[in-house]
Amino acid sequence: MRTDLIAQKVGFDISKIDEPLRWNSDWEKALRLLSTTPPTELFDLFGGDYFRDSSTSFHNAGDLIQSLWDDVYEHQTSLLSLYHELDKGGRLKTLWVLLLDRERQKHIQAGLYEACRTALWKHDARALCPEITLKKFSKGSGKAFLAFIDEYRKGVQSSAPDVYFLPSELWASVLEREEPITELTADVSTFLTLLRNDFIATFALSTGKSVLDDVSYRSPGTSPNFAVSRSKPLLRCENCEKSPDMIEGSPKFMMCSICKSKLDFVIHYCSQSCQKEDWRRHKKHCGKKKVSKDLRGTIHDPFWMEPHMPDFLRDLPRDAHGEISIIDMGFMAPAASHPFTPALQRQVSLWTADKNIDYFIFDEADRPVCLVIPLKTDKLAFRKMRQAALSSVPSERVLGVKFIGDYLLKRTPYSPWLTRGNILNQLGWEYGENMKQVILEFEKVLETRRFPPGLPYLEWFNCHMAVMWPRFRE
Ligand SMILES: [Zn+2]
Ligand SMILES: [Zn+2]
Repeated sequence: MRTDLIAQKVGFDISKIDEPLRWNSDWEKALRLLSTTPPTELFDLFGGDYFRDSSTSFHNAGDLIQSLWDDVYEHQTSLLSLYHELDKGGRLKTLWVLLLDRERQKHIQAGLYEACRTALWKHDARALCPEITLKKFSKGSGKAFLAFIDEYRKGVQSSAPDVYFLPSELWASVLEREEPITELTADVSTFLTLLRNDFIATFALSTGKSVLDDVSYRSPGTSPNFAVSRSKPLLRCENCEKSPDMIEGSPKFMMCSICKSKLDFVIHYCSQSCQKEDWRRHKKHCGKKKVSKDLRGTIHDPFWMEPHMPDFLRDLPRDAHGEISIIDMGFMAPAASHPFTPALQRQVSLWTADKNIDYFIFDEADRPVCLVIPLKTDKLAFRKMRQAALSSVPSERVLGVKFIGDYLLKRTPYSPWLTRGNILNQLGWEYGENMKQVILEFEKVLETRRFPPGLPYLEWFNCHMAVMWPRFRE
């Protein structure tokens, strides 16, 4: 299916997507033009001759409509849980209002970009949504966007278990036709309405993800006020490892003043004697390198907010500045007791050759389809699971394979020569034939728990964990 036909018809060059600002203002110009076009012409432009002339006639409309319906429903369901997470205690409003204008615009732009990239009809779908514009949502210091999201969430909630269709006057007039309705025009109408709502749901979801990403990244644009509701990291003595409440009289802790002034790095001590005792160990790094014991619960523990986080998730690779480096994650050499299969060997050597790619899936003709996870938190979780899948410990391996298997089945980029079967077979070759069953069973478990269909478990997990994730370096 071509996804730039309408864009072309309105004289729009989709390759401009790499220049986001220009790309967006071009689109908004095109959308203004479209809204002055008579509705009947719009119907033909969007659907009429598109489907009549299309070489792949609209014969499988029923299936297409059903699967698109499922997609939209899935996006709307994940959107509810994502915004629920973002909006705990009504904080979304506070967060959004406190953002700088350009930060708000960045998030909306990210949402539009992602929707043009991942909605089924890609760029063309944007033409179906003239009311979804950066200009409109930026109004009133971004209040217009908040109002839209509020209404949208209410709409989705009250429509469940049905898909929610965002009402639009323009759109209603496009679909209102004087000629008699035929099966084709009815199918085209339904299809277009779904495509339109697929775009809107993807936009809302992606904008929310972008905000969540920043919140978890605690980017400079996010107000520090946002973190106030979190509990603070623990103070623990670098030497005896105790926290104030474990010591009689809860003494006031001191810190290494050299590390603080030279590196702006905080290491705590409960007493002078503990600092002296630790000096033999600490002097090698003092004032030169940010090295601490990363004691659980302290500011140096990337999961200080989550005391129950398993150790294998805490153990993250650091770069020379002591920062977590996602790109260096997810590798592991084979253990003698557990050699890699040839397929897995190939996979691992590809990861090593291009560390930006999270996974390579091969289509029918053995062409690689590259998975790159944009969201840092999802990427981190995926990489950790990728690493677990290489483990020589069977229980870790099973855990890793089922998580990445579930993710790959749901999030591998679309390719016409790629099926679910291909992906499962590949995972079977890489991790062992029996793992296919493990993945399928995991899928069934998620289903019986009424897990949102199509949402990878990892992403769901991250929606709930994201506020706790540490700050990452790309
Ligand atoms: Zn101490
Ligand atoms: Zn020091």
